[in-house]
Amino acid sequence: MLPRDRRWAWAEIDLGAVGRNIATLKGLLSPGALFMAVVKADGYGHGALEVARAALLAGADRLGVATVDEALCLREGGVTAPLHLLSEAPPAAAPLIVERSITVALHSEEFARALARAAASQRRVAPFHLKIDTGMNRIGVKAEEAADFVVSLRGLPGIAMEGVFTHFATADVPGDWEFDRQLDRFRATLAEFGRRGIDPGIVHAANSPATILHPETHFGMVRCGIAIYGLHSADTTRGVVELEPVMSVKASVTRVARLAMGEGVSYGFTWHAPAPATVATLPIGYADGVRRSLSNRMGVLIGGRLCRQVGRVCMDQLMVEVPRGVDVAVGDEAVIVGTQGGSALTIEAQAALADTIDYEIACGYGSRLVRVHHPSADVR
Ligand SMILES: *Cc1c(COP(=O)(O)O)cnc(C)c1O
Repeated sequence: MLPRDRRWAWAEIDLGAVGRNIATLKGLLSPGALFMAVVKADGYGHGALEVARAALLAGADRLGVATVDEALCLREGGVTAPLHLLSEAPPAAAPLIVERSITVALHSEEFARALARAAASQRRVAPFHLKIDTGMNRIGVKAEEAADFVVSLRGLPGIAMEGVFTHFATADVPGDWEFDRQLDRFRATLAEFGRRGIDPGIVHAANSPATILHPETHFGMVRCGIAIYGLHSADTTRGVVELEPVMSVKASVTRVARLAMGEGVSYGFTWHAPAPATVATLPIGYADGVRRSLSNRMGVLIGGRLCRQVGRVCMDQLMVEVPRGVDVAVGDEAVIVGTQGGSALTIEAQAALADTIDYEIACGYGSRLVRVHHPSADVR
C-alpha cells in the first residue's frame, strides 16, 4: 500500500531540484572549494536521508546536522560521507560520536576532554572543527582566545583539528558593517594562527546567503542549507540565483458541502458564508505545518483556481470556499504549496503572511505529513 493510500495529505519532494540547486550553488564556487549540504531538522522538513543521498549524488562533499540523533539516522541509513555536527553535543555522547565517525564542532574544553577520552579508549583519532565566535554571540570560542585555546588542546591525545569555522549573523543584509566586522575578525584569527604555526585545515564560514552574495567568504568550504531546498533566507538573495523550490504540499478533498447564507464554519465560527457557498474540507491542519495564524488569510489551489481558506485551521483539517464555477468532488487534489494549472503558492508567501521566514514554514511541514520523494534525475 502506498503512503498516499493511507492518508490524503502529503508533501512531494523533488530530489531532482535538490541536485539542480546544488549544481547552481557549486557553480558559484572557486575550483577546489568543498560543498557541505546542511540537512539538519530532517532536511528542513524535506526528509534528511533522501535529501542527503540526492545531495551526495549531486556532488556535495559533506553533510551538516544539528544533533547526534540526526547524525545517527543518516549513518543508520547507510550514509558514509563525512558528517558534521554543527554545534557541540553533551559530553556523554562523545563515545557514540567517535564510534560512528561523526565530525564535531568543538568550542569547549569540557567537550574536548570527553572527545579525547572516547577517542583514546577506542584507539582512534577524532576529527574536530573549531568553532570561532566572531560576533554572533551564539556558540564558539571568542575570536581573540581561539589561538590560545588550540594550543591548550595540544596535550590531549586522540583529537585532531581538521577545520576552523565561524557563522555570520547578517550575511543577507547588504553592506552591513557588522558582517564586515565578523569577516575581519575571522581573517585576523586565521592570521594569528599563521603567525603561531597553527594549521587551520578546512576553513569555512559561508551559509546560503553568504555563498550567494559574498564570494570572499567561500574559503575552503561553504555550508548551504536553505538554498539547496530552493528557498531563501531573505529577499536579498531572491533573483541573484535561480533556485527551484523542492517541496510541494498537497491534500485530497474529503468532503464537499453546500452552505446556506449565514452558516458558520469551524471552531469559533470565525467565518460565516456571506451568501450560499460551496465549502470543501481538506485533511491537513496545523499539526502538519499549516499555520493556525493563517486562518481566514491563506488560500489553496483546486482545479487551478485560488480558493480562500475559511474558518479556523484545525489540528488535522481545514476548510476552503470553492469559487462559483469550479467543479469540485471528493478526491480532487488541492495544492497548499506548489503549482497547479499555472498558478503557484509559495512557502515564501506563506512565511510573509505568517510573519516568519521560509525556514520555519518548511520545517513545519516536516512533522506528520507523508512524504513522497521524486527521484533525482541521475538515479531515475
Ligand atoms: C544551519 C546552519 C547553516 C545553514 O544555513 P542556511 O542559511 O540554511 O544556509 C550553516 N552553518 C551553520 C553553523 C548552521 O547552523
